[in-house]
Amino acid sequence: MTDVPHHPAPGLLPLTGSFSPDDEAGMRLALDQALNAQLAGEVPVGAVLMRGQQVLATGYNRPITTHDPTAHAEIVALRHAAQLLQNYRLPECTLYVTLEPCAMCAMAMMHARIGRVVFATPDPKTGAAGSVLNLFALAQLNHHTALQGGLMAEPAAALLRQFFAERRAQHKARRDALRSLAAPAADLTSTLDASAIPAGESTELPADHPALEPPR
Ligand SMILES: [Zn+2]
Repeated sequence: MTDVPHHPAPGLLPLTGSFSPDDEAGMRLALDQALNAQLAGEVPVGAVLMRGQQVLATGYNRPITTHDPTAHAEIVALRHAAQLLQNYRLPECTLYVTLEPCAMCAMAMMHARIGRVVFATPDPKTGAAGSVLNLFALAQLNHHTALQGGLMAEPAAALLRQFFAERRAQHKARRDALRSLAAPAADLTSTLDASAIPAGESTELPADHPALEPPR
């Protein structure tokens, strides 16, 4: 895994602006969805699509359980809402998501003509709403979707930090268990193949990754 140097200029991320009680209600539901992802063993990210005060659809991150690299929380919610309304365009809707959208999700939102996107915590690794790049700011691509970030950033980031910390601890426990099996009898070590030791999945952020730090 290579780390792309990342030094966002302060103010590049749209972490300003005020949020309404409806926004807070929407993001609270998105956080509930993130918990669902966590219970399923997925990276805890949740999304909710609202039209006014009406919840149209919810989604949580589940690429591992569905064997689907596109099954990010936002895509899941967009698909449900488009099916419900029998329309792939969702212009009067606001999408709440607990993590800054990636490029795939940002473009899907623009294809759906989502009216507004509100995210909680930035994703310095793949964020396409100001962290790595800002697709929403490109006038050639985006004529429809307003963007705001930073709503309930701390609880959303805390869920991610806790998830990755627990996963690192589980990996370490498995490695330690394998080592303790191998240590007492040298003749057993030949039966242990290093490739059988579970390696971290490619989606895991390194321990010192900025996404695991409290948002600034
Ligand atoms: Zn995404």
